[in-house]
Amino acid sequence: MAEPLADLTPGLAADLLSRLPPGTARDRGPAYLTEPRGMWRGRAGLVLAPADTDEVARIVGFAARHRIGIVPWGGGTGLVGGQVLAEGALPILLSLERMNAIRAVHADENVLIAGAGAILADVQAAAAQADRLFPLSLASEGSARIGGLLSTNAGGVNVLRYGNARDLCLGVEAVLPDGSVMYGLRRLRKDNTGYDIRNLLIGAEGTLGIVTAASLRLFPRPAVRGTAILTVRDPAAALTLLGMAQAGGGVSAFELISGQGLRFLAEAGLAVRQPFADPPDWCVLVDLGLPAGDDAMTRLEALFAAGAEAGLADDGVIASSEAQRAELWAVRERIPEANRHVGAIASNDISLPLSEIAPFMDRAGTALTAIAPVRINAFGHLGDGNLHYNLFPPKGRAKAEFADLADDLRRVVDDLVHDHGGSFSAEHGVGRLKVAQLERYGDPARLAAMRAIKAALDPRGIMNPGAVLRRV
Ligand SMILES: Cc1cc2nc3c(=O)[nH]c(=O)nc-3n(C[C@H](O)[C@H](O)[C@H](O)COP(=O)(O)OP(=O)(O)OC[C@H]3O[C@@H](n4cnc5c(N)ncnc54)[C@H](O)[C@@H]3O)c2cc1C
Repeated sequence: MAEPLADLTPGLAADLLSRLPPGTARDRGPAYLTEPRGMWRGRAGLVLAPADTDEVARIVGFAARHRIGIVPWGGGTGLVGGQVLAEGALPILLSLERMNAIRAVHADENVLIAGAGAILADVQAAAAQADRLFPLSLASEGSARIGGLLSTNAGGVNVLRYGNARDLCLGVEAVLPDGSVMYGLRRLRKDNTGYDIRNLLIGAEGTLGIVTAASLRLFPRPAVRGTAILTVRDPAAALTLLGMAQAGGGVSAFELISGQGLRFLAEAGLAVRQPFADPPDWCVLVDLGLPAGDDAMTRLEALFAAGAEAGLADDGVIASSEAQRAELWAVRERIPEANRHVGAIASNDISLPLSEIAPFMDRAGTALTAIAPVRINAFGHLGDGNLHYNLFPPKGRAKAEFADLADDLRRVVDDLVHDHGGSFSAEHGVGRLKVAQLERYGDPARLAAMRAIKAALDPRGIMNPGAVLRRV
């Protein structure tokens, strides 16, 4: 049983501030204490924005001595409540926003080193300036920061080709829960020297330490881009088409979009150009990134022709300009906004083995509609087996009418995902939202190992208390 944490009292706060340069504290405004889904409101005794790793170490060392909780904060875009602490002893909220420098770009090595507070869009731009690609890409890239992205092992639209945040990281610098600094900004592709602490910190959601900087992998920039939206019979046909597309190489993204998602764009009144006059049941967005001299239009036309001949695809739109590419991507990227407008009863970020997707969808559709007449909008990163599987009320009815059923509906989805060998959290993490699911579906030996690691690295339990693992 961990000792209870102490409140950051005004006296302790004044003591801590006296050890830091003026200007480190921030207003404790809603920007730091809310999260995108509005499910929790956080609390903090102090919001601190240190300027460098040494200041982070001083803050963590102080917190460890006084048994004060620390909630690391990146861009606040996390979708599982890891960055907000709504109850318990008053913690320190530690924002990395000032540690946002691009420290170095080693273009010949395809490596970029960034402070944890660097915003993803700025890292992408710095890579582009060196004629390289940093491929992590997601709708929150204008706000999410490198420390948060690594700590949640974020995914996004290019995982299929380049991997998730973990795959894009060569090294991290981090402050560990006792205030010591691990200087791990390695630029090595090979380094077999014992336990992989970097990979423990990645995806730990701030429960094992604070990432202060990272060395990141860059890639050659594709010279030619091409995008198409093709209708498909069903998710199984979409997967066969994915195999055909991958055989040709250069597939950067392969996103499943349902007819329900297209109808929601219209229902929400979003100014998005619909790709088809009548929304098909299913379609896929295919994005190619090719070397110079390759012709994306020809490649996409050939894919459509092969798909049509195999009875997989029967209609499509291929972008013939950058503006059209942006229009097609807007169809996919604005679906979450449309979902928010319609109002989900339950949202699930799931992953499944690819061959289990179609059987899961069949069983889940039948089981859920037997409970309530829900509308299902399943969409997302099909090539990664990652679906955002969201449930909505019938048209004209409010989600509040189904509030009592939300837990049952979520449980049906989670149980079936588990049954089909999948994960209840594909890319958003566990945070505070999914702690109970981790306990229910997690492998007991793995959970015991996770608790042992937490106790060894953070014996006082100060790092992001209650996130990922319940504080016992
Ligand atoms: C519109 C929208 C679209 C999204 N799309 C995707 C998507 O496609 N794929 C995807 O994976 N996610 C997606 N997300 C979720 C979110 O953007 C990611 O989880 C992102 O990685 C969070 O980064 P952040 O900097 O905002 O972190 P925060 O939200 O501030 O924090 C997230 C977690 O990391 C911890 N943390 C933050 N910084 C550090 C640090 N320096 N050291 C240690 N711990 C830290 C926090 O304590 C918290 O537990 C989306 C979110 C939104 C709002």
